[in-house]
Amino acid sequence: MIADPFVQLRLLDLQAVDTALTQLAHRRRSLPELLAIADAERRGAELHNELVDAETSIADLDREQRRLESDIDTVRLRADKDQARMTAAGVPAKEISGLQHEVASLARRQSTLEDELLELMERREIADTQLLVLRESTDRVAAERGSAEAARDVAFAEIDAAATERVAERLELAAALPTDLLALYDRVREASGGVGAAMLRQRRCEGCRLELAGNELAVVRAAKAEDVLRCENCRRILVRTHESGL
Ligand SMILES: [Zn+2]
Repeated sequence: MIADPFVQLRLLDLQAVDTALTQLAHRRRSLPELLAIADAERRGAELHNELVDAETSIADLDREQRRLESDIDTVRLRADKDQARMTAAGVPAKEISGLQHEVASLARRQSTLEDELLELMERREIADTQLLVLRESTDRVAAERGSAEAARDVAFAEIDAAATERVAERLELAAALPTDLLALYDRVREASGGVGAAMLRQRRCEGCRLELAGNELAVVRAAKAEDVLRCENCRRILVRTHESGL
């Protein structure tokens, strides 16, 4: 393939634009904010599960509290009824003795239930505090995620604006290149990790960093300026400049 040496030089400009585009894409993928967002998402999901557990525990405690309170009411009502019966006129002594027994037993039962209620309310207080802490953590993680997302969006906008400029430059450069040379460049770039054209600087291919010597150097030296050369080692298009050291 042959191409005007000045046209060949344009390949290096195109390569610079493509390299910049690759770097922008890499920067977009590896923004530290993306890790921060993923981390906040993970912690948010964990906290959500813990919140659901804490709320379930509190609902259980509330149900248990209502049951205890209802039991205490029942015991108290029964004791009141017994008391009333005992003070009524004409109750046989034997019944009074039975009622006194029952009242004493009800009082013990009530005391046990009230102890249980007290213990339950202490547990509820601890659960409330835990819930509060979880809600605060959830809010904090959501705020962290929000600011990371905002920072990501700023970085994305910056990167995308730079990429748009580069794409416009690429279109212009590509439009000025012969179709076959551009197709070769794109094919080599695709196959060679994003670098299709490399400068020959001081007899060294800047694509693979290998220095040309012997027969290869002789071939390059003998080539016409418009010959499109390829590096024997990495197969990239080798562009000669006044720095090529030939
Ligand atoms: Zn090379």
